Amino acid sequence: SEGAWKLWSSSHVMGVSLRHLDCKEAGKQMEDNTDENMEGALIARDRVGVQDFVLLDSHTSETAFLNNLRKRYQENLIYTYIGTLLVSVNPYKELDIYTVTQMQLYRGVNFFELPPHLYAIADNAYRVMCSEYNNHFILISGESGAGKTEASKKILQYYAVTCPTTEQLQIVRDRLLLSNPVLEAFGNAKTLRNDNSSRFGKYMDIQFDFKGAPVGGHILSYLIEKSRVVHQNHGERNFHIFYQLLEGGDKDLLCWLGLERNPQKYAYLIQGRCAKVFSINDKNDWKIVRKAFSIIDFTEKDIEHLFGIVASVLHLGNIQFEEDSNGHAIIRDGTQIKWISKVSLLRYPLNVDLAFYARDAVAKAIYGRTFTWLVNKINGSLANKDSTRKTVIGLLDIYGFEVLDTNSFEQFCINYCNEKLQQLLIEMTLKAEQEEYELEGIEWEPIPYFNNKIICDLVEQKHKGIISILDEECLRPGEATDLSFLEKLEEKVGDHAHFVTRKLADQKTRKSIDWVDFRLLHYAGEVTYCAVGSFSLPPFQVLCNSKNGIIRECFLLSELDNRRRPETVATQFKNSLMSLIEILMSKEPSYVRCIKPNENKEPGKFDDYLIRHQVKYLGLMEHLRVRRAGFAYRRKYELFLQRYKSLCPATWPHWHGPAAEGVERLIKHIGYKPEEYKLGRTKIFIRFPKTLFATEDAFEF
Ligand code: ATP
Ligand code: MG
Repeated sequence: SEGAWKLWSSSHVMGVSLRHLDCKEAGKQMEDNTDENMEGALIARDRVGVQDFVLLDSHTSETAFLNNLRKRYQENLIYTYIGTLLVSVNPYKELDIYTVTQMQLYRGVNFFELPPHLYAIADNAYRVMCSEYNNHFILISGESGAGKTEASKKILQYYAVTCPTTEQLQIVRDRLLLSNPVLEAFGNAKTLRNDNSSRFGKYMDIQFDFKGAPVGGHILSYLIEKSRVVHQNHGERNFHIFYQLLEGGDKDLLCWLGLERNPQKYAYLIQGRCAKVFSINDKNDWKIVRKAFSIIDFTEKDIEHLFGIVASVLHLGNIQFEEDSNGHAIIRDGTQIKWISKVSLLRYPLNVDLAFYARDAVAKAIYGRTFTWLVNKINGSLANKDSTRKTVIGLLDIYGFEVLDTNSFEQFCINYCNEKLQQLLIEMTLKAEQEEYELEGIEWEPIPYFNNKIICDLVEQKHKGIISILDEECLRPGEATDLSFLEKLEEKVGDHAHFVTRKLADQKTRKSIDWVDFRLLHYAGEVTYCAVGSFSLPPFQVLCNSKNGIIRECFLLSELDNRRRPETVATQFKNSLMSLIEILMSKEPSYVRCIKPNENKEPGKFDDYLIRHQVKYLGLMEHLRVRRAGFAYRRKYELFLQRYKSLCPATWPHWHGPAAEGVERLIKHIGYKPEEYKLGRTKIFIRFPKTLFATEDAFEF
């Protein structure tokens, strides 16, 4: 076909690897359906699979789906479409598909004309935004280590390279790009599943002006995993910034902060027993972070205060308590306190256990709030102050579904968040799509799918949901315990189909004696949560009076007012997710579903069992079924007519009758075949992307 030819010749000129084009040929030629093309296509297809699952012969078979994914993965073709949704399998190795040449190749080219790529998703959202002047988001999901953060960075780079810019706007571009290393330093850590695991959720709006130039941005962050500051499992690390500071900070800085270079000296850094990681270059990363700070417009004072806090957390972790004659905890050795008091001095009568607990609580609170401060600070520097209307593309990279050996309140929040996003995807694709056909009077055979709304309700329903129950318990300070919380859960949601509590049995009598945990049957699998530590301490007054400006900003005296009943962390999180969903619902979606190919971060290894599980719970088969039976593209008659009216003498320059009739005239004139489209009540539905692209090409010509 003409499009393919253009591609071949342009790729020769640009020196792009041609191997990636085979699959495109296969897909296109299958559609062209000529004998000669068919033979070549079948050979190519046999080797590299199809680039869009919609083209699979058997669209109901999970095995066929997996075979296609595997074939492509083995040829380093990590991207495959389901219609307009992109499935990505983490290659765990550098591929040469992210060059500037590749970016330029995808720029302004219709979606299905090139092999599947993140750049096509990014470019498509961008072009629709520019032509229809509306807002978009790209939701990137998948479990820990599946490649979400890498994908979101690649999309951002794509915009940074391909969007128009001016010298003035270069700084915005640099700040957008450099916000990543800063947030990753403070918000990412090495875990067993990922050496650079995001321990916070992130939604980033990129704002564009009417010319399509990126002019600003805004970041929303969600629930950083504070417990990591004071505790790491074996084989895991604390947040990168601690190691970066020790490895990379110059001698004077460390001396000023009272720090030694050796991470082994710090109790908060050694629990995972892997301070040094082969794949991470802390020294180098430190340099990038330092550079980023200056470009993002941090003052020297900010930086001083920020590292004062990082150092204080390390010193805090080294504080040891012993009991005095009154049973109160006293600090064994005053060295650390000297350094911490650069931030703040704490004085409280507590017993030794409580003193350790309080020490950790302070470290977590300080770190967590400093992270929020950091995000706000970055937002200040990304903010575009002129008031002209802007359109946005939002990138959502949020922690994936997580099942650990011990799952705490934090995993509960992470997994609840994943339920919400799955719900959004269902609402915006499977459900919305089918409802739309019905509404528009298009003949349709309903396709069944699992709706996880029932699990979202279990967590968030008013009065009856798990979060409400937790809130109620939090209103009984001193009385509520982890145990009473579990008892309430059992009483209120014990008979829910997706909920189980477990009682600890007495070894001899086998009688149950104590509640130990509860279990949720999530859409992605079963997770057992331990209720320990669901309740948190109030803030400390001393922090509100700190000499450190960041700490003072983070801990406001007004919080200590007993008459105010602050929202619990769970409710805050629930509310922030609700408003995120609202933000997303008002935008046009694109989806990237990331798949983790194996548990060992190994290139080329395609673990069938693991991948099949992800295909299942990501709902990819249902998505394929709906896509395959449905229509790739739809537009309101008015919009369709407005865009393409110049292609038909009857509708150009004005059509005076009803838009639906105008569209009918228009498509008759350009020769749409009956099987290519359907006319609904208010919209035209087009089955294949190629039909629309042909129209687009004619229009551009
Ligand atoms: P988490 O939920 O833990 O944050 P994630 O889905 O964000 O996980 P990433 O950090 O994006 O996972 O990816 C994990 C690792 O996989 C990366 O550090 C990188 O080594 C590798 N990786 C991911 N995507 C790609 C890619 N497109 N090309 C090469 N390597 C990749
Ligand atoms: Mg990540």
